[in-house]
Amino acid sequence: MKRALDTLEEADDVILGAGFSGLSAALRLAQFGRKVVVLEKHTLPGGLNSYYYRPGKYVYDSGLHVLTNRCPVSRRWGMPFVYRQLGLSAEQLPLHAPTAPSLVRLGDCSLETPVEGEALLEKIAADYPAQSDGWRALWALLRQDQLEPALAATPAREVLERYLGDAQLIDLLRLPVFLYGGYSAGDISFLIFRNIFRSLFIEGVGHPGSIKPWLDSLVSALKAAGGEVFYRAPVVAIEHQDGAVQAVRLESGQRIRAGNVVSSIGWAETRRLLESAPDDAPTAQTACISAVETTFCLSREEAAQACPHPMVFFHADERFDWDPAAHPFQSYSISCAAHFDFPEEPEYCFFKIAAYLGGEGWLGLDEDTYSEKKEAARARLEAELREKLPGLLHIPDDAVNETMTPRTVHRYTSHVDGAIYGGADKSFSGETRHRNLFLVGNDQGGIGVVGALISGIVVANLKILTGGR
Ligand SMILES: Cc1cc2nc3c(=O)[nH]c(=O)nc-3n(C[C@H](O)[C@H](O)[C@H](O)COP(=O)(O)OP(=O)(O)OC[C@H]3O[C@@H](n4cnc5c(N)ncnc54)[C@H](O)[C@@H]3O)c2cc1C
Repeated sequence: MKRALDTLEEADDVILGAGFSGLSAALRLAQFGRKVVVLEKHTLPGGLNSYYYRPGKYVYDSGLHVLTNRCPVSRRWGMPFVYRQLGLSAEQLPLHAPTAPSLVRLGDCSLETPVEGEALLEKIAADYPAQSDGWRALWALLRQDQLEPALAATPAREVLERYLGDAQLIDLLRLPVFLYGGYSAGDISFLIFRNIFRSLFIEGVGHPGSIKPWLDSLVSALKAAGGEVFYRAPVVAIEHQDGAVQAVRLESGQRIRAGNVVSSIGWAETRRLLESAPDDAPTAQTACISAVETTFCLSREEAAQACPHPMVFFHADERFDWDPAAHPFQSYSISCAAHFDFPEEPEYCFFKIAAYLGGEGWLGLDEDTYSEKKEAARARLEAELREKLPGLLHIPDDAVNETMTPRTVHRYTSHVDGAIYGGADKSFSGETRHRNLFLVGNDQGGIGVVGALISGIVVANLKILTGGR
């Protein structure tokens, strides 16, 4: 029988947040007999990628467009690594293949990305013959499991320009990567670029049908391994002394002593919980990247008519500059769950349209002002896509739909300004200035659901299970 939270006094490892990175770190640690406790603010697991119920038959996936790393190219990377390390199977964390190519579109220039990675290699080599040698060399680099540290830290554009001389091709390759995980305006490190590109296109996207079975599998496995998850358990402070954390404090005032604290809530957000630690004051953040998204709930037939591709990555200008806070409603992601090879016919499919923007200005509004702002954003998103992609998208006029904003993301994750990829400030090592406080998830560089799972495992392995630093 599950014990009550208020009887809990200490744990070997206290995990902040029951998103994918927190759950995977917790499961990994619990498998080694450690006393692990996950404290989650909300009533459900999943964080940025959870689900909620709507009247009738609908279970909405709050984040999910597609997942990545469907087709492994190495046992040491992606889903084979996740399955092996967490002791879970492809039946417990299923991914179904797309049945149509995705589309990258920059202004009027398009690149269809075939379902299989090697086909994309050959397609670009054929479409851009003058770039073929450089492209093949870049592809080989993107496939590598290990990157030399200096190269990993180099800005992505600089590395792409070493291999390719065609600015349009470079932008076509950058566009989907930034829409999936461009955590800072301008550029990101080549390490993260490689991780996302490889996950999306070399291993390829897939769809789980719904995110709920993935979360159910993780939570069940964690409980079976002896770990505990407590919901409605917001942590409001992390106590520390002499460079080590000692305990976390809950909103209720309860104090739980901790051997280690693993935080998935974000770096800036974690710093705010550290009491009187001047060195850990939040650093100046660049404007957070967030999104407005409308999800339509359709029959599979209706969804297939709405969009012919599983994913569309679209930027309205001919050149790709990534600064959604300065230039909102320029970049869009569209996903359509009608185009996946599900073993059973789904009752309904989600068609999602999203525009990227800065997250500032969405919090602290009174309800009327917020409703007006949300409605204006929803209407602009639809109107601009209808105008900019005529013939490609058929956005339904009267289907059941839901719109989320940066405020929604903030409400369900507590990320500053509803940041969807975390802050611009990352700790790729997972370390902080406190020797037993570690970061996992977005701010450790784990982007997307699979990235978050890997982040939790790697930090648990390297920083706690093997004795760490
Ligand atoms: C709209 C949207 C669409 C997305 N689509 C996709 C997609 O299609 N495919 C994909 O792979 N990825 C997608 N992502 C990204 C993906 O969801 C994230 O990368 C991933 O879920 C991050 O997981 P995490 O564990 O690092 O963090 P989070 O999911 O942010 O988890 C952090 C958890 O910590 C909890 N928390 C915060 N503060 C506290 C506190 N003080 N005390 C206790 N608990 C706290 C939060 O409630 C949350 O549950 C999407 C994200 C969004 C927002």
